[in-house]
Amino acid sequence: MTLRTSEHMAFLRQSEIRNMTIECTKVRGINLAQGVCDTELPEPVRLGAAEAMAQGTNIYTRYDGLGELRRAIARKVERDNGAHVDPEAEVVVTSGATGAFYAACLALFDPGDAVVLFEPYYGYHVDTLRALSLTPSLVQLQAPNWSFAPEQLRAAIGPKTRAIVINTPGNPSGKVFSRSELEGIAEIARAHDLYVITDEIYEYFLYDGHEHVSFASLPGMRERTVTVGGFSKTFSITGWRIGYLLASSELCYKIGHAHDLVYVCAPAPLQIGVARGLDALPPSFYEELKTEYTRKREKLCSALERAGISPHVPSGAYYVLADSRRISGNTPKERALSLLERSGVAAVPGSAFFEGGRGDDLLRFSYAKRESELDEACRRLDSFRP
Ligand code: GLN
Repeated sequence: MTLRTSEHMAFLRQSEIRNMTIECTKVRGINLAQGVCDTELPEPVRLGAAEAMAQGTNIYTRYDGLGELRRAIARKVERDNGAHVDPEAEVVVTSGATGAFYAACLALFDPGDAVVLFEPYYGYHVDTLRALSLTPSLVQLQAPNWSFAPEQLRAAIGPKTRAIVINTPGNPSGKVFSRSELEGIAEIARAHDLYVITDEIYEYFLYDGHEHVSFASLPGMRERTVTVGGFSKTFSITGWRIGYLLASSELCYKIGHAHDLVYVCAPAPLQIGVARGLDALPPSFYEELKTEYTRKREKLCSALERAGISPHVPSGAYYVLADSRRISGNTPKERALSLLERSGVAAVPGSAFFEGGRGDDLLRFSYAKRESELDEACRRLDSFRP
């Protein structure tokens, strides 16, 4: 047989995030690798979806999603993101934030175009670009604050560059881009006439008084911005695949059709569940998320500190990058496996988020876990001897 598979896609491996989940299951460990977010989902979300299914919302939706959800998203955006969007034309409901990002890249760019990303990056962003024959161009954020100089960003832009990708709060660094950093990016995007795709899925996971600034709310940025968001994390429904994007009506039309091509639509009854959640949950729900996750962050970071796996304490999202140098093993993967074997706690090798060996001394831990499981993970870290 001479059948072969795509040479172009040969770069794509099972993500290290999923690999570690598989390794973790083998030893029945505690999975702090994949940001699975297996906490309880809010009741209005669960009941809303069940009711919608029972009442017959089970067929294709419009290519850009159900009106009830688009309107609920527009109200949320007005309330929390400082922007007014038309639910009839400027919102597309997507198959998760990942589907939104893929559809946006499919609709906006041509093979050979370049896109700027900040490192550490979320691997799915980079692999999506590669799948579409786009070239990722990296700007290295400097620990401990994950800061960057505007000159670094300018230097990453070449004649083929079409866009800058922002992820705030960021996976895996937990960086929350400040308003002035975003203003700096806006100035550069304007000067080089670039799109900005901003993945804001962790917008409600903020600590130490950090403020979430939506890039599209900056003066003059709306027309060049595609905002990507979703409900996986906020409502603990990572498997539902309900996300969205916001952009100008022209872009929504094009990106919406690209999304239709790949996904047709996001699951119909689950869209209703999310809409009901958005309408029913009071501001205190979002405040409590912050309190809960601040507590979980402290718990995990102190356990890591005690175990000699020194954490970079995040400002947002729910991941911690931590120093793995005291753990035995020659490669980042060996260190992740050694930690798993000796403590029963799974983390992702830092190499999954960096190029050129820059993350080799790091491991990424997620604390989007039920309290009891996180407690058990911390106990295991306490008795771990590197
Ligand atoms: N966003 C989650 C993480 O970074 C899940 C990723 C995935 O499994 N695709 O862990």
